[in-house]
Amino acid sequence: SAVRSAINAIQHYKVLNTLTHDCFEAALETEQKLSTEKKNDSPLYGRPILIKDNFCLRDTLTTCASKMLANFRPPYTSTIVQRLIDHGCIIVGKTNMDEFAMGYIERDFTASWGAFGPVANPWSLTKTMATNEETSKTVLHIAGGSSGGSAAAVGANFVSIAVGSDTGGSIRNPAARCGCYGFKPSYGLLSRHGLVTLVNSFDAPGFFARNIDDLIYATNAVAGPDGADATLSLKPFQALKTPSESSKEKKRIVIGLPDEYDIRVLSTEYRSCWQDLVHQLTETGEFLFRRVQIPHKPYANAAYTILSSSEIASNMARYDGIRYGHHTQNLDENKDTYETILRKTRDESFGERVRGRILAGNYYLLEENYEKYFVQSQRVRRAITNDYRKLFEEDKIDCLLTPVVSDDPITLADYEKSNEIFSSNDGFTVDANLAGLPALSFPVRISSKGFPIGLQIIGPFMQDQALLSIAQRIC
Ligand code: GLN
Repeated sequence: SAVRSAINAIQHYKVLNTLTHDCFEAALETEQKLSTEKKNDSPLYGRPILIKDNFCLRDTLTTCASKMLANFRPPYTSTIVQRLIDHGCIIVGKTNMDEFAMGYIERDFTASWGAFGPVANPWSLTKTMATNEETSKTVLHIAGGSSGGSAAAVGANFVSIAVGSDTGGSIRNPAARCGCYGFKPSYGLLSRHGLVTLVNSFDAPGFFARNIDDLIYATNAVAGPDGADATLSLKPFQALKTPSESSKEKKRIVIGLPDEYDIRVLSTEYRSCWQDLVHQLTETGEFLFRRVQIPHKPYANAAYTILSSSEIASNMARYDGIRYGHHTQNLDENKDTYETILRKTRDESFGERVRGRILAGNYYLLEENYEKYFVQSQRVRRAITNDYRKLFEEDKIDCLLTPVVSDDPITLADYEKSNEIFSSNDGFTVDANLAGLPALSFPVRISSKGFPIGLQIIGPFMQDQALLSIAQRIC
């Protein structure tokens, strides 16, 4: 059975650490039940899928890879997961991630910062077979993050579709690292209801898949009105055409190549991959390339850092250990106040990255800093959004083609050892979140060391269908 093969593969490659916990038994039962029912005609019917562990699944552990939510079983299921279930998808497990989907901003995205340990890149296994935990870190590489578990599982072909969330690049980055497609739809296209909030104004649910058709099937299955998410687009949702249906219209595509993405840390090999694709596509005569500029790009990372940390600081206040989540056992009945209980609870259960972001966010939100940091970053955000809008609307660019990561992944051991802060990979993905744009990363070729090299396309707001059909022609 499809579910049985997925389970076998996951168990066989346990060393990749793709899951926080499994739903194997429930999945087998569901598959059994579906086989006795009348089949619906959804292309997703009966397919085993995986869900990032920050999407609520009723009565099932939803931990966000945090000790804070180690025992949290939500009383409801997130909208998009429910819709996938209604289409006949079978959930096999919850995938590993950074704690609350927060990693570094200034370093490689990794899926290393969760309570369940790091996710490893399946491409490492094409070169070596890791046996024990100690040596494995020196031979296994980072999978990208924060949705590393979903990306690795699709990259390794455990399942054909997985759900992730993208706040600053957390779908596109690991998809590129693991050699699969990663789609972050426009902000407000897919409901965030039941996705544990990281940054309300950036969070986008999205998908990993091994081809564009599956991304379209999954998006069609879950898009559409949802009273539970007030930020959802009010426009009626027009189902995306699968590429095979839309391939007739062969309009010439104008693609922008932003100068600001051609940065110093981009390795020669990754830059050539980008340039070679431009040459290949130019030769077909179907594509026209133009160099373009995003004048406010130099401020994007700073704005992302400040705005994301500020919203995080405010969002994380709900984890006080009183209403739900971890509650400290280290109580002193005579001395404890709400504040001391809160402090102990949070000290015991939040990791280093989470605490750092809360601290930073509260600093930016201090009365004396608010105007200087938060308000100024909102201005930058608007300016960047406007830079992109101009390119699409005034300069008639159909989409941009950019790198997603700058070089091959490093090993888990090297990542742990190095504290080096460098401003590189995140710079490729945050713009789409700042401006709410749809963006997709897709595998292009294999590097000389045997890792997948991906590239990214970014399209105009709410033109997700157009972007996916361009993807089909490019990939
Ligand atoms: N690592 C980035 C951050 O911590 C990306 C987060 C994300 O997209 N979920 O902000």
